[in-house]
Amino acid sequence: MSNMICFNFRSDKNALKDDLSMSNGGTSVFINVLCLSGGRLAQTQSQKRFMVFLAEKNQSVCGIGTVGFDIVDMPWNRDSFEEDKEFMLRVIEGARRKLGWETLGYEPNEEIVAEYLGTFQKLIERMTANDIIEGSLTEWLSEADENDPVKCGFPKCKKHDAYICVHGCQVCTD
Ligand SMILES: [Zn+2]
Repeated sequence: MSNMICFNFRSDKNALKDDLSMSNGGTSVFINVLCLSGGRLAQTQSQKRFMVFLAEKNQSVCGIGTVGFDIVDMPWNRDSFEEDKEFMLRVIEGARRKLGWETLGYEPNEEIVAEYLGTFQKLIERMTANDIIEGSLTEWLSEADENDPVKCGFPKCKKHDAYICVHGCQVCTD
């Protein structure tokens, strides 16, 4: 079993060629290092939403091998598209620089993390404003109840300085 991150799977026949396929354990580590990096870099509401989206990809809650996603389903917003895309690339770069790794109780396999980050970067780079699915941000937000972190000030994990989602801190629990 594994988790797959793809780009515009519904309309792009080439999608499978550059999908990011990760082992289940590798996925947890990959999301861990993104949450640590983004927790230290996010400034705007939109950037924090991206980090909550990633924190939701928690296999201990959602199930092992069920947290793959499509880049176009991330909470993109037309008004801040360029800024958000640039932010995601900085989060990837921060993960390469091991931002926040000192808070982890284990040592990630750098070689595997670098490979996953490289493939993820290529997928993010392909995203354009034209690929934004109208209404997807509104739909994602509408699934959040009033106690959801996206609606109550984006709390963070004190231990990891990562944004938490409704399931808590992904780094603590997955
Ligand atoms: Zn934590």
